[in-house]
Amino acid sequence: MDSKARIAYFSMEIALDARMPTYSGGLGVLAGDTVRTAADLGVPMVAVCLLHRRGYFRQQLASDGTQHEHAEDWQIDALLEPLAARAKVSIASRQVSLRAWHYRIAGCHGHEVSVIFIDSDLPENDAYDRRLTDQLYGGDAYYRLCQEVLLGIGGVRLLRALGFDSITRFHMNEGHAALLTLELLAEACQGNGQNGIGEAEIEAVRAQCVFTTHTPVPAGHDQFALEMAAEVLGKSHAPRLRDLFSTDVYRQVLRTDEAFTSPGELLHRGLMLNMTYLALNLSRYVNGVAHRHGEISRLMFADYRVDAITNGVHAATWIAAPMAQLLDRHLAGWAADNVSLRYALAIPLAEIGEAHTRAKRQLFDHVQTSCGVGLDPQVLTLGFARRATAYKRPDLLFHDMDRLRQIARDHGGLQAVFAGKAHPADAGGKALIRQVHAAAAALRADGVQVVYLPDYDIRLALLLVSGVDVWLNTPLPPNEASGTSGMKAAMNGVPSLSTLDGWWIEGHLEGITGWAIGSGEEDNAADRMLACDARSLYDTLAEVVMPCFYRHPEDFLRIRRNAIALNGAFFNSQRMLQQYLRRAYL
Ligand SMILES: *Cc1c(COP(=O)(O)O)cnc(C)c1O
Repeated sequence: MDSKARIAYFSMEIALDARMPTYSGGLGVLAGDTVRTAADLGVPMVAVCLLHRRGYFRQQLASDGTQHEHAEDWQIDALLEPLAARAKVSIASRQVSLRAWHYRIAGCHGHEVSVIFIDSDLPENDAYDRRLTDQLYGGDAYYRLCQEVLLGIGGVRLLRALGFDSITRFHMNEGHAALLTLELLAEACQGNGQNGIGEAEIEAVRAQCVFTTHTPVPAGHDQFALEMAAEVLGKSHAPRLRDLFSTDVYRQVLRTDEAFTSPGELLHRGLMLNMTYLALNLSRYVNGVAHRHGEISRLMFADYRVDAITNGVHAATWIAAPMAQLLDRHLAGWAADNVSLRYALAIPLAEIGEAHTRAKRQLFDHVQTSCGVGLDPQVLTLGFARRATAYKRPDLLFHDMDRLRQIARDHGGLQAVFAGKAHPADAGGKALIRQVHAAAAALRADGVQVVYLPDYDIRLALLLVSGVDVWLNTPLPPNEASGTSGMKAAMNGVPSLSTLDGWWIEGHLEGITGWAIGSGEEDNAADRMLACDARSLYDTLAEVVMPCFYRHPEDFLRIRRNAIALNGAFFNSQRMLQQYLRRAYL
């Protein structure tokens, strides 16, 4: 383990291996791709996450699309190496001991990056605390806050216990890790032989911290009742919080303009500790995850400087074997230097077509074995896989069933593969999964095959983004901060058909890298947008995408190749990490 790492990357979730359910979705995939890229580029980074002994959940779907959730037990001993180091944090009046597990990532030139997983399941802890590193995004607000104490405060202490003494940057991947700032404040005070927090200590912490925000809607930001926060943070850190309130920072962290009188009084005003504002106030560098998301964040957080670094994906992970083998033949070294993907422009179209056909066959074989449906390899196949939640609108394609039937009948045929989990507490998201199932049943008689594959994970994602013909993405703008599955698809020669939101505003060249749905205008009336975007989706399918696919296959192959060359060369995690290095880390 390289205990001389300079950058500590903190994330509540991380996707490293299909056998490790330590992630739920895009945020974790981004974290995994970031550390893999750090290993490839030789960046001295260490990552910190919770162990999530019981994962997020395994999704089982009844025939009507009702979601059932099962805990996921995994082979921790077989996949991770136990470390001897221990650290303690206090939660309320309890002491919680922590241990660490080590996962090693070797980059393409042999540089290693360590991921440290925090585990509270030790016999000396009380029963409740032993379960704190079990469930990703599980439990109630109290459980989640305790987890954030373990990640932020416990994470810094474990790094210290492991001998990491050269860290100059603490990167918070979303607000879940924001409590690490309190531990750094404690360290700064100790270093100065002081008890209270002053401007010097705040500056010392700010100089070390980097914060990436991921949520363009205010309700998505993590916050906790201040009373609960003071109780949970207990003796060791509540005073830090109170000290912080004696500075100007407190007003912003608490989003109040009320004058400060006494710490005790503050705690009894029903105020919330907002993790986003805590991180914003104590970071030297803050960014959103796509240009549009940067703009939205600057509107939401007008008092702060917010930059934008558009997400990217790890090319060697997300390009499926058939296309990777083709790239190996034509673009030696593309995995170590993703810029070379640009030169995919010189690969013969027929070879791009053959590679894609192989990936499509792999996906269809999986569909056949997992749900017994034989899809037709000649038919245009749409892919849609993401967290099932209202703003992503998986129901958009089915808005007008008669129109959809007519398009499929008149323009050569259409089929679609769906996947995605709803958060266990998201009733609306679960209803959407049932709605897609109902639409699929209603369309079957008309020869439009729609399948919904259960238990979306990174393995299934690779099959889907590489094997479908067109990647469908329908978020209601401006809700999608970035989105990354369309980037994965692009690298596999699969163009996007997407509303103009998140990364697609940057990646979209009409008819060249894919197609837009709607005009990119925003409207507060969600139902009006649904009708409007659905019409645009149908028109584009019927008049542009399907004629191109069925009547001008060579043009379609050219779009596939453009997607790899133009978007793969840019929306990769090497470009992204280099931007973090230049703007945030160095
Ligand atoms: C890439 C990925 C995501 C993120 O996809 P979005 O386009 O951002 O919705 C979520 N889950 C899994 C399993 C992924 O591989």
